[in-house]
Amino acid sequence: MKNIVVLGSSGSIGKNALWVISRFPEEFNVFGLSVHRDTRTLLSQIKEYRPRAVCVSYKDRAEALGSPLPEDTELFAGPNGLEDLASHPDVDIVLNAVSGFAGLRPTLAAARAGKRVALANKESMVAGGELVNKTVAEYGAEIIPVDSEHSAIFQCLKAGNNKEVRRLILTSSGGPFREFPKEKMSEITVEQALNHPTWKMGKKITIDSATMMNKGLEVIEAVFLFSLPPEKVDVVIHPQSFVHSMVEFIDGSIIAQLSKPDMCLPVQYALFYPQRREMNRADLDFTDRFSLEFEPPDNVKFPGVELAREALKRGGTAPVVFNASNEAAVDAFLNRKIKFTDIFHIVEKTMNKSGSIDVDSIESIMEADKNGRKIAEEIINGIRP
Ligand code: MG
Repeated sequence: MKNIVVLGSSGSIGKNALWVISRFPEEFNVFGLSVHRDTRTLLSQIKEYRPRAVCVSYKDRAEALGSPLPEDTELFAGPNGLEDLASHPDVDIVLNAVSGFAGLRPTLAAARAGKRVALANKESMVAGGELVNKTVAEYGAEIIPVDSEHSAIFQCLKAGNNKEVRRLILTSSGGPFREFPKEKMSEITVEQALNHPTWKMGKKITIDSATMMNKGLEVIEAVFLFSLPPEKVDVVIHPQSFVHSMVEFIDGSIIAQLSKPDMCLPVQYALFYPQRREMNRADLDFTDRFSLEFEPPDNVKFPGVELAREALKRGGTAPVVFNASNEAAVDAFLNRKIKFTDIFHIVEKTMNKSGSIDVDSIESIMEADKNGRKIAEEIINGIRP
């Protein structure tokens, strides 16, 4: 019996994870759950899964949650609570589905405690890639990617060794604006941007998919997860989202992983790895006619991937700033303070203004994140009518 903690249990990955876990009651136990502020969902999950510990990372709500908790359930709160839960000695697997930069410290805490981290929080690798890798190696932890593209690559890599890899090919649906006229991009509304064609996800990642900043984040994530240089990570548009990513080997063979888009599959793979278990909800039906299309990305209309490559080139804390300014810009867009296309300008300007220093500790990452957000906020306030 393995004890699992699901960080971010009220989000779409968190709910998928609980669905997967509940199918294997002989093998998995929901040890802990965390939400940021959605205590309503947390309370219903507590009733259903009877976890030993829960955490509300938005502290005030944690205090409000205090009274109706079952007596044997331990309550953690705040960002430190997330770390305490992720590194609890009785825990075997930490599924990190926290949204954004806030996921980094729990990933590091779990790694220091030698856990398996089923990682859905890409920002952990974007902002802390080097430090996370070092910590994982030092404490004998392991990271199994849950991001669908990286889970695909992780699976495809089994077909050869790392030296035989020519390149990784990350697929992208292209988002809802793949065919949208470039000159109208600045008029895109929040409602339009929240309507993703193939995946149902939280707001932050849905906007990131619409801008394709998500693919930029995923290029950085892949570079650190698989320890490959950025020039070996390519992006291709694939509107059907059936091919989740591919690996090309030096002899020209390309190995791909396919299924219907469904996050339960990468979640289950990460929990059971190296084993596989029965599941049917992501099956592709070849008795139905369908086609797979591929096309190169439009890096002028969607500069996110190029900005991410620039951040990798600058190195050090530049990816931290790339992420921080994007989080600030997405927030501002969702609050209708800026235009859709301002997101790119804000990230570019913030990166140019902040420069980059070496990453030698969590403190330097936290500082670069704080600073990046501050500069981005200044730029956002300058844009505001
Ligand atoms: Mg992804």
